[in-house]
Amino acid sequence: MVMEMEELIIGSHVSYTNNDGLLGSVKEALSYGANTFMFYTGAPQNTIRSAIDKDLTLKAHKLMKEKGIDIKNVIVHAPYIINLANNKDLDKFNFSINFLKQELKRSEELGINKVVLHPGSHVGLGTDTGIQNIITALNEVLDSEEGPVICLETMAGKGTEVGTTFEEIKEIIDGVKYQNRVMVCLDTCHINDAGYDLNNFDKILTEFDEVIGLDKIACVHINDSKNVTASHKDRHENFGLGNIGFDNLIKVVYHDKLKGIPKILETPYISSEAGGIDRTYPPYKQEIAMIKAKKMNPQLLEEVRAYFK
Ligand code: FE
Ligand code: FE
Ligand code: ZN
Repeated sequence: MVMEMEELIIGSHVSYTNNDGLLGSVKEALSYGANTFMFYTGAPQNTIRSAIDKDLTLKAHKLMKEKGIDIKNVIVHAPYIINLANNKDLDKFNFSINFLKQELKRSEELGINKVVLHPGSHVGLGTDTGIQNIITALNEVLDSEEGPVICLETMAGKGTEVGTTFEEIKEIIDGVKYQNRVMVCLDTCHINDAGYDLNNFDKILTEFDEVIGLDKIACVHINDSKNVTASHKDRHENFGLGNIGFDNLIKVVYHDKLKGIPKILETPYISSEAGGIDRTYPPYKQEIAMIKAKKMNPQLLEEVRAYFK
């Protein structure tokens, strides 16, 4: 048998519940044929969090070892209500800082080294002030060289989002004291919506390399987009069914310069009604199969619905 030089590291967003802890997340990822995954340590829209269950975490690590999931490729996503760019309300600003500190601790307890963070929205303060606030906040959160890495996500530019260009992300990184703890999460839907044309991904990577440096890419979110380049919308579409398209996304997934970097699907659940009840189903098993085969499945949505019937 010929060993593959470097294996594709692909997974998706999965759930994390207090009952099943990290073990539940690992099992869900395995059910999709994934070899990595990303999750919120609680509901993404709130900051209610429970203590990490040590026993479930140990079991999860054991299962990952057995199944070949390398924990260094597993990712936590910080809740999107954390906003480090806006300091109009100092109580809320400080709450965001403290919550992010706790989130890093929780990630450490889970053995996870990468935490994706949306830089924030300036809510009228302006991009420059937003960036300064993010820098101030990150320097409070990252108070030593040790600990999980924050992966700043490239944003679509919806509303007053900061981190919409590589230059803005670079400015944030430059202001942080412990720069070994700040990296980047490249989101294909977001960069498309922000104005980067994925018909020429090589050009995008060259630009990224010149502005930030390719060695700073810690993770890639693989999403198609419901909207055209520079739409500033941030609405994800299923793999191959949006404006970026199958071929362009496959190029990103298998790009030589992104080898060994985890790729995470955050494509939308598929809706289907059964017996008059509307439900939604995860498309990840079918999308990962399609990515591994490097061949578009025109029946993707139908197959997801059939699978869950
Ligand atoms: Fe995100
Ligand atoms: Fe994303
Ligand atoms: Zn998004």
